Amino acid sequence: MENVRKVVIVGSGCAGHTAAIYAARANLKPLVIEGHEPGGQLSLTTLVENFPGFPEGIQGPQLIDNMRKQAERFGAEYQLAHLSSADLTQRPFKLQLGHHILHTESLIIASGASARWLGLPNEQALIGHGVSSCATCDGFFFSGKEIAVIGGGDSAMEEAIFLTRFATKVTLIHRRDQFRASKIMLERAQKNEKIQFLLDTVVEDVHDITKKEVTGLHLRNTKTGKEWDLPVSAMFLGIGHVPNAKMFGRQLETDQDGYLKTRDFVHTRVPGVYACGDVQDRRYRQAITAAGSGCMAALEVEKFLEEHESK
Ligand code: NAP
Repeated sequence: MENVRKVVIVGSGCAGHTAAIYAARANLKPLVIEGHEPGGQLSLTTLVENFPGFPEGIQGPQLIDNMRKQAERFGAEYQLAHLSSADLTQRPFKLQLGHHILHTESLIIASGASARWLGLPNEQALIGHGVSSCATCDGFFFSGKEIAVIGGGDSAMEEAIFLTRFATKVTLIHRRDQFRASKIMLERAQKNEKIQFLLDTVVEDVHDITKKEVTGLHLRNTKTGKEWDLPVSAMFLGIGHVPNAKMFGRQLETDQDGYLKTRDFVHTRVPGVYACGDVQDRRYRQAITAAGSGCMAALEVEKFLEEHESK
Protein backbone atom coordinates (compact mmCIF):
# COMPACT_ATOMS: atom_id res chain seq x y z
CA MET A 1 0.00 0.00 0.00
CA GLU A 2 1.33 3.46 -0.92
CA ASN A 3 1.39 6.59 1.18
CA VAL A 4 1.07 4.90 4.53
CA ARG A 5 2.04 7.21 7.38
CA LYS A 6 4.18 5.88 10.20
CA VAL A 7 2.20 7.82 12.76
CA VAL A 8 -0.82 10.10 12.69
CA ILE A 9 -1.67 12.24 15.70
CA VAL A 10 -5.30 13.23 16.09
CA GLY A 11 -5.59 16.54 17.93
CA SER A 12 -3.43 19.64 18.21
CA GLY A 13 -3.61 20.56 21.87
CA CYS A 14 -0.90 20.21 24.44
CA ALA A 15 -0.82 16.39 24.24
CA GLY A 16 -0.88 16.30 20.42
CA HIS A 17 1.90 18.87 19.98
CA THR A 18 4.12 17.19 22.55
CA ALA A 19 3.60 13.81 20.88
CA ALA A 20 4.46 15.52 17.58
CA ILE A 21 7.70 16.99 18.98
CA TYR A 22 8.85 13.57 20.22
CA ALA A 23 7.71 11.65 17.14
CA ALA A 24 9.30 14.21 14.80
CA ARG A 25 12.59 14.05 16.71
CA ALA A 26 12.44 10.25 16.31
CA ASN A 27 12.27 10.85 12.54
CA LEU A 28 8.76 9.42 12.25
CA LYS A 29 7.47 12.43 10.22
CA PRO A 30 4.20 12.65 12.16
CA LEU A 31 1.09 14.10 10.61
CA VAL A 32 -1.08 16.03 13.07
CA ILE A 33 -4.79 16.26 12.27
CA GLU A 34 -5.73 19.56 13.88
CA GLY A 35 -9.41 18.86 14.54
CA HIS A 36 -12.39 21.15 15.15
CA GLU A 37 -10.67 23.18 17.84
CA PRO A 38 -7.04 23.68 16.75
CA GLY A 39 -4.76 24.28 19.70
CA GLY A 40 -7.26 22.69 22.10
CA GLN A 41 -8.23 24.22 25.40
CA LEU A 42 -5.00 26.18 25.87
CA SER A 43 -5.88 28.27 22.84
CA LEU A 44 -9.07 29.37 24.64
CA THR A 45 -7.47 30.30 27.93
CA THR A 46 -5.63 33.37 29.19
CA LEU A 47 -2.59 33.38 31.47
CA VAL A 48 -1.16 29.93 32.29
CA GLU A 49 0.65 30.24 35.59
CA ASN A 50 1.41 26.62 36.40
CA PHE A 51 3.30 25.34 33.37
CA PRO A 52 6.89 24.87 34.57
CA GLY A 53 9.53 27.03 32.92
CA PHE A 54 7.55 30.26 32.78
CA PRO A 55 8.04 32.03 36.12
CA GLU A 56 5.90 35.01 35.04
CA GLY A 57 3.28 32.76 33.38
CA ILE A 58 2.58 32.58 29.66
CA GLN A 59 -0.56 33.22 27.60
CA GLY A 60 -2.23 29.91 26.60
CA PRO A 61 -2.34 30.68 22.85
CA GLN A 62 1.35 31.68 22.94
CA LEU A 63 2.31 28.46 24.73
CA ILE A 64 0.45 26.30 22.23
CA ASP A 65 1.89 28.24 19.30
CA ASN A 66 5.41 27.72 20.66
CA MET A 67 4.76 23.96 20.93
CA ARG A 68 3.59 23.79 17.34
CA LYS A 69 6.61 25.72 16.05
CA GLN A 70 8.85 23.38 18.03
CA ALA A 71 7.21 20.31 16.42
CA GLU A 72 7.37 21.84 12.94
CA ARG A 73 11.07 22.61 13.39
CA PHE A 74 11.68 18.85 13.59
CA GLY A 75 9.49 18.03 10.59
CA ALA A 76 5.98 17.47 11.99
CA GLU A 77 3.26 18.24 9.44
CA TYR A 78 -0.16 19.68 10.24
CA GLN A 79 -3.41 19.20 8.36
CA LEU A 80 -6.49 21.29 9.06
CA ALA A 81 -9.02 18.45 9.03
CA HIS A 82 -11.35 16.55 11.31
CA LEU A 83 -11.40 12.80 11.87
CA SER A 84 -14.94 11.56 11.23
CA SER A 85 -14.35 7.83 11.73
CA ALA A 86 -11.59 5.24 11.91
CA ASP A 87 -11.16 1.56 11.13
CA LEU A 88 -8.78 0.12 13.71
CA THR A 89 -9.53 -3.54 12.96
CA GLN A 90 -6.32 -4.06 10.96
CA ARG A 91 -3.05 -2.33 10.21
CA PRO A 92 -2.46 -0.03 8.54
CA PHE A 93 -5.33 1.73 10.26
CA LYS A 94 -7.78 3.58 8.04
CA LEU A 95 -8.76 7.14 8.98
CA GLN A 96 -11.67 8.94 7.37
CA LEU A 97 -11.18 12.72 7.13
CA GLY A 98 -14.35 13.91 5.43
CA HIS A 99 -14.05 12.50 1.87
CA HIS A 100 -10.35 11.86 2.25
CA ILE A 101 -8.87 8.55 3.52
CA LEU A 102 -5.53 8.22 5.26
CA HIS A 103 -3.60 5.08 6.22
CA THR A 104 -1.23 4.87 9.14
CA GLU A 105 0.87 2.22 10.88
CA SER A 106 0.20 3.73 14.29
CA LEU A 107 -2.14 6.26 15.82
CA ILE A 108 -1.95 8.69 18.71
CA ILE A 109 -5.33 9.94 19.89
CA ALA A 110 -4.98 13.35 21.48
CA SER A 111 -8.41 14.66 20.57
CA GLY A 112 -9.02 16.24 23.98
CA ALA A 113 -12.34 17.27 25.41
CA SER A 114 -14.84 19.96 24.41
CA ALA A 115 -16.93 22.31 26.48
CA ARG A 116 -19.99 20.85 28.19
CA TRP A 117 -23.34 22.62 27.79
CA LEU A 118 -26.32 22.62 30.12
CA GLY A 119 -28.47 21.04 27.41
CA LEU A 120 -31.36 23.52 27.56
CA PRO A 121 -33.12 24.05 24.20
CA ASN A 122 -32.83 27.85 24.32
CA GLU A 123 -29.21 27.65 25.40
CA GLN A 124 -28.35 25.77 22.22
CA ALA A 125 -30.33 28.18 20.06
CA LEU A 126 -28.53 31.21 21.55
CA ILE A 127 -24.94 29.94 21.19
CA GLY A 128 -23.12 32.80 19.51
CA HIS A 129 -25.88 35.24 20.54
CA GLY A 130 -24.91 35.67 24.18
CA VAL A 131 -24.34 32.03 25.15
CA SER A 132 -20.68 31.05 25.06
CA SER A 133 -18.16 28.63 26.53
CA CYS A 134 -15.16 30.82 25.75
CA ALA A 135 -14.67 33.98 27.78
CA THR A 136 -11.45 34.90 26.00
CA CYS A 137 -13.17 34.59 22.61
CA ASP A 138 -16.44 36.37 23.33
CA GLY A 139 -16.03 38.43 26.53
CA PHE A 140 -15.15 41.59 24.64
CA PHE A 141 -18.61 41.71 23.02
CA PHE A 142 -20.20 42.31 26.42
CA SER A 143 -18.29 45.39 27.50
CA GLY A 144 -20.34 47.46 29.94
CA LYS A 145 -22.94 44.68 30.39
CA GLU A 146 -23.95 42.30 33.17
CA ILE A 147 -22.88 38.70 32.61
CA ALA A 148 -23.53 35.30 34.24
CA VAL A 149 -20.94 32.53 34.54
CA ILE A 150 -22.07 28.98 35.35
CA GLY A 151 -19.96 26.48 37.29
CA GLY A 152 -17.98 25.98 40.49
CA GLY A 153 -14.59 24.77 39.20
CA ASP A 154 -11.39 26.53 38.16
CA SER A 155 -12.73 27.19 34.67
CA ALA A 156 -15.72 29.09 36.02
CA MET A 157 -13.54 31.12 38.41
CA GLU A 158 -11.08 31.92 35.65
CA GLU A 159 -13.86 32.96 33.27
CA ALA A 160 -15.57 35.10 35.90
CA ILE A 161 -12.34 36.89 36.81
CA PHE A 162 -11.44 37.44 33.16
CA LEU A 163 -14.91 38.77 32.31
CA THR A 164 -14.70 41.49 34.97
CA ARG A 165 -12.38 43.26 32.50
CA PHE A 166 -15.43 43.95 30.34
CA ALA A 167 -18.57 43.46 32.42
CA THR A 168 -20.00 45.89 34.95
CA LYS A 169 -21.02 42.88 37.04
CA VAL A 170 -20.46 39.11 36.85
CA THR A 171 -22.85 36.74 38.62
CA LEU A 172 -21.30 33.33 39.22
CA ILE A 173 -24.04 30.71 39.44
CA HIS A 174 -23.20 27.34 40.99
CA ARG A 175 -25.53 24.41 41.63
CA ARG A 176 -24.02 23.58 45.06
CA ASP A 177 -22.45 25.51 47.95
CA GLN A 178 -19.14 23.60 47.75
CA PHE A 179 -16.58 24.30 45.06
CA ARG A 180 -14.30 22.15 42.96
CA ALA A 181 -12.17 25.21 42.25
CA SER A 182 -8.71 25.42 43.79
CA LYS A 183 -8.45 27.59 46.90
CA ILE A 184 -6.33 30.22 45.18
CA MET A 185 -8.74 30.67 42.24
CA LEU A 186 -11.80 30.70 44.48
CA GLU A 187 -10.26 33.34 46.74
CA ARG A 188 -9.34 35.52 43.77
CA ALA A 189 -12.91 35.39 42.54
CA GLN A 190 -14.35 36.02 46.01
CA LYS A 191 -12.10 39.06 46.47
CA ASN A 192 -13.16 40.58 43.15
CA GLU A 193 -15.78 43.22 43.89
CA LYS A 194 -17.42 42.84 40.49
CA ILE A 195 -18.23 39.16 41.10
CA GLN A 196 -21.36 38.14 42.96
CA PHE A 197 -21.97 34.48 43.93
CA LEU A 198 -25.33 32.74 43.60
CA LEU A 199 -25.07 29.29 45.19
CA ASP A 200 -27.44 26.30 45.22
CA THR A 201 -28.85 27.76 42.05
CA VAL A 202 -29.55 26.22 38.65
CA VAL A 203 -30.45 27.73 35.29
CA GLU A 204 -33.87 26.57 34.14
CA ASP A 205 -34.14 28.62 30.95
CA VAL A 206 -32.37 31.24 28.85
CA HIS A 207 -34.30 34.28 27.54
CA ASP A 208 -35.00 35.57 24.87
CA ILE A 209 -35.23 33.31 21.90
CA THR A 210 -37.63 35.64 20.04
CA LYS A 211 -35.09 38.50 20.17
CA LYS A 212 -32.23 36.18 19.19
CA GLU A 213 -30.15 37.50 22.09
CA VAL A 214 -29.65 36.75 25.76
CA THR A 215 -31.70 39.09 27.94
CA GLY A 216 -31.81 37.04 31.14
CA LEU A 217 -31.86 33.67 32.87
CA HIS A 218 -34.66 31.90 34.66
CA LEU A 219 -33.17 30.53 37.88
CA ARG A 220 -34.21 28.15 40.66
CA ASN A 221 -32.79 27.77 44.13
CA THR A 222 -32.37 24.03 44.69
CA LYS A 223 -32.85 24.30 48.48
CA THR A 224 -35.81 26.68 48.73
CA GLY A 225 -37.40 26.03 45.34
CA LYS A 226 -37.64 29.79 44.75
CA GLU A 227 -37.68 30.77 41.06
CA TRP A 228 -36.81 34.15 39.58
CA ASP A 229 -35.41 35.93 36.50
CA LEU A 230 -31.92 37.42 36.47
CA PRO A 231 -31.39 40.01 33.74
CA VAL A 232 -28.01 39.47 32.01
CA SER A 233 -26.68 40.02 28.49
CA ALA A 234 -24.61 36.87 28.31
CA MET A 235 -24.18 33.43 29.86
CA PHE A 236 -20.72 31.83 29.89
CA LEU A 237 -20.45 28.12 30.67
CA GLY A 238 -17.59 26.82 32.78
CA ILE A 239 -19.05 23.43 33.67
CA GLY A 240 -16.35 21.08 32.48
CA HIS A 241 -15.79 19.13 29.31
CA VAL A 242 -16.75 15.98 27.41
CA PRO A 243 -14.10 13.77 25.78
CA ASN A 244 -13.87 13.71 21.97
CA ALA A 245 -13.77 9.97 21.33
CA LYS A 246 -17.08 9.21 19.61
CA MET A 247 -15.41 8.73 16.22
CA PHE A 248 -13.90 5.45 17.42
CA GLY A 249 -17.27 3.95 18.27
CA ARG A 250 -16.94 0.69 20.18
CA GLN A 251 -13.51 -0.19 18.83
CA LEU A 252 -11.88 1.28 21.92
CA GLU A 253 -12.90 0.94 25.54
CA THR A 254 -14.42 3.96 27.27
CA ASP A 255 -15.67 4.66 30.78
CA GLN A 256 -19.28 5.63 31.51
CA ASP A 257 -18.62 9.26 30.52
CA GLY A 258 -16.88 8.42 27.26
CA TYR A 259 -13.24 8.89 28.34
CA LEU A 260 -10.92 6.43 26.57
CA LYS A 261 -9.67 3.75 28.90
CA THR A 262 -5.93 3.13 28.83
CA ARG A 263 -3.57 0.73 30.61
CA ASP A 264 0.14 1.35 31.31
CA PHE A 265 -0.63 5.08 30.98
CA VAL A 266 -1.34 5.41 27.24
CA HIS A 267 -2.05 1.96 25.72
CA THR A 268 -5.52 1.36 24.32
CA ARG A 269 -6.69 -2.20 23.76
CA VAL A 270 -5.61 -2.00 20.09
CA PRO A 271 -1.84 -2.51 19.63
CA GLY A 272 -0.39 0.52 17.85
CA VAL A 273 -3.13 2.88 19.06
CA TYR A 274 -2.32 5.15 21.99
CA ALA A 275 -4.38 7.79 23.78
CA CYS A 276 -3.07 10.78 25.69
CA GLY A 277 -4.26 14.05 27.21
CA ASP A 278 -7.79 14.99 28.17
CA VAL A 279 -9.50 12.36 26.00
CA GLN A 280 -8.21 9.69 28.44
CA ASP A 281 -7.48 11.67 31.60
CA ARG A 282 -10.45 12.66 33.71
CA ARG A 283 -8.40 12.94 36.87
CA TYR A 284 -5.65 15.54 36.38
CA ARG A 285 -6.55 17.36 33.12
CA GLN A 286 -3.65 19.78 33.31
CA ALA A 287 -1.55 21.15 30.45
CA ILE A 288 1.56 19.62 31.97
CA THR A 289 0.02 16.16 32.45
CA ALA A 290 -1.36 16.26 28.89
CA ALA A 291 2.14 17.12 27.64
CA GLY A 292 3.60 14.29 29.71
CA SER A 293 1.20 11.69 28.35
CA GLY A 294 1.76 13.00 24.79
CA CYS A 295 5.44 12.31 25.28
CA MET A 296 4.68 8.80 26.58
CA ALA A 297 2.45 8.03 23.58
CA ALA A 298 5.17 9.08 21.11
CA LEU A 299 7.78 6.96 22.90
CA GLU A 300 5.41 3.97 22.79
CA VAL A 301 4.83 4.50 19.07
CA GLU A 302 8.57 4.54 18.47
CA LYS A 303 8.94 1.23 20.32
CA PHE A 304 5.91 -0.30 18.59
CA LEU A 305 7.16 0.62 15.11
CA GLU A 306 10.63 -0.72 15.85
CA GLU A 307 9.11 -4.05 16.90
CA HIS A 308 6.67 -4.25 13.97
CA GLU A 309 8.68 -2.70 11.14
CA SER A 310 8.20 -4.64 7.88
CA LYS A 311 6.69 -7.66 9.63
P1 NAP B 1 -14.55 20.81 36.91
O1 NAP B 1 -13.46 20.99 37.90
O2 NAP B 1 -15.04 19.44 36.59
O3 NAP B 1 -15.78 21.70 37.42
C1 NAP B 1 -16.99 21.70 36.71
C2 NAP B 1 -17.99 22.51 37.49
O4 NAP B 1 -19.18 22.63 36.72
C3 NAP B 1 -18.35 21.87 38.82
O5 NAP B 1 -18.48 22.87 39.80
C4 NAP B 1 -19.70 21.22 38.53
O6 NAP B 1 -20.58 21.22 39.62
C5 NAP B 1 -20.28 22.14 37.49
N1 NAP B 1 -21.19 21.44 36.59
C6 NAP B 1 -20.94 20.33 35.83
N2 NAP B 1 -22.02 19.98 35.11
C7 NAP B 1 -22.98 20.88 35.43
C8 NAP B 1 -24.31 21.06 35.01
N3 NAP B 1 -24.89 20.24 34.11
N4 NAP B 1 -25.02 22.09 35.54
C9 NAP B 1 -24.44 22.94 36.43
N5 NAP B 1 -23.17 22.84 36.86
C10 NAP B 1 -22.44 21.81 36.36
O7 NAP B 1 -14.16 21.44 35.48
P2 NAP B 1 -13.25 22.71 35.13
O8 NAP B 1 -13.54 23.86 36.01
O9 NAP B 1 -13.39 22.87 33.65
O10 NAP B 1 -11.77 22.22 35.45
C11 NAP B 1 -11.25 21.06 34.82
C12 NAP B 1 -9.76 20.90 35.19
O11 NAP B 1 -8.98 21.95 34.60
C13 NAP B 1 -9.52 20.96 36.68
O12 NAP B 1 -8.51 20.03 37.00
C14 NAP B 1 -9.02 22.37 36.90
O13 NAP B 1 -8.16 22.48 38.02
C15 NAP B 1 -8.27 22.64 35.59
N6 NAP B 1 -8.26 24.09 35.32
C16 NAP B 1 -7.27 24.84 35.90
C17 NAP B 1 -7.23 26.20 35.67
C18 NAP B 1 -6.15 27.01 36.30
O14 NAP B 1 -5.47 26.51 37.18
N7 NAP B 1 -5.97 28.26 35.92
C19 NAP B 1 -8.21 26.83 34.89
C20 NAP B 1 -9.22 26.04 34.34
C21 NAP B 1 -9.24 24.67 34.57
P3 NAP B 1 -20.39 20.17 40.83
O15 NAP B 1 -19.21 20.67 41.60
O16 NAP B 1 -21.67 20.26 41.56
O17 NAP B 1 -20.15 18.84 40.20
